[in-house]
Amino acid sequence: MVVPQLRAMAWGTAGGRAFGENGGMAQRAQRAHLGGDELEVFARGLPKAEVHVHLEGCIPPRVAAEAAKRHGATSPVTLEDGHPKIETLRELLDYLDWSCGLVDRAEDLAEIGRSTSQRLAASGALYGDVIVNPTHWPHWRERRGAMVDALAAGFTAGEREGGARIGLCVSLKRQQSERDALAVVSWLIEERPERVVALSIDGDESAGSHSGRFREAFGLARRAGLHRCAHAGESSGPDGVREAIELLGAERIDHGVRVVEDPALVRELAERRVPLDVCPTSNVVLGVVPSFGSHPIDRLRQAGVRVSLNTDDPELYGIDLAGEYVRAAATFGWGVEDLGALARTSIESSFADEPRRQAMLESLDGYLEGWQAG
Ligand SMILES: [Zn+2]
Repeated sequence: MVVPQLRAMAWGTAGGRAFGENGGMAQRAQRAHLGGDELEVFARGLPKAEVHVHLEGCIPPRVAAEAAKRHGATSPVTLEDGHPKIETLRELLDYLDWSCGLVDRAEDLAEIGRSTSQRLAASGALYGDVIVNPTHWPHWRERRGAMVDALAAGFTAGEREGGARIGLCVSLKRQQSERDALAVVSWLIEERPERVVALSIDGDESAGSHSGRFREAFGLARRAGLHRCAHAGESSGPDGVREAIELLGAERIDHGVRVVEDPALVRELAERRVPLDVCPTSNVVLGVVPSFGSHPIDRLRQAGVRVSLNTDDPELYGIDLAGEYVRAAATFGWGVEDLGALARTSIESSFADEPRRQAMLESLDGYLEGWQAG
């Protein structure tokens, strides 16, 4: 876990206001490119949203440890200071099944929700679209309403303590039947839980095309006014991305990075302004790309594709959102304008309601103006 060293400085949601409080830093801030502590401070304070983060990857180690003790269960993956040591997809899935399977109390779900809201705020995120896939939570599969209620209580508690506002993206699993998918969507449409903003789909995309099976579910969600996002272009190639857009009506693509295999599709995404929710560290850990330095995010940006930066499963990888901005900036030589553009896309492509989105964009503009004006 990356320890946010500057958390105590309360840059998280301060926006441009904070700059008058530190003249020395303001002078140094005039440079377009940043490094060291200055980059860390800028990235952590930058108002942003996170739009690709799974609740399953946000279980605090202490919550998992206490639940494991109660259940007398042992982690299938080596732990270091309570954090799983994930190096392969198999280890990630084993740990994910184990940790989600421990959570059988509403109070634990609420704590996961509260800490997720807080975690995002500690990285300067004002809002998060958090993906939750009920199939991963065996104690809640038949109690989706109670699950969402418990999470909502936790999000509300987190927000009251200064945390980020959270919207939920309820996710289907690629391996689900059409019937199960329709049951989830029917429930969403009938109950309309207040926290739920979107229908999502995740899981293994590699075993051929699945999108046709979920077309009706996504169509129903669209007609009911729910947003849509879809994992594609991670374990599937460019065709998976095309299907997500054309068959599922996805407004955003989770990952999508393998579109680089199809230059024509890259151009099309840029022209149609379809945003990609990119998670570089996750792609490296799971072997989608060989290294952070060779990640296609920089090439996608240069081709005009709208990309945001995200963590995917922060507790599993021991990362946080601000740290990803820092790492990407250091790797690709990005400066103030580049990180500002990533933050802008994250906000614009979020499923926050329009007034909240506008307020976030104003915070971002104020922050960038304050930084540049010194
Ligand atoms: Zn994901």
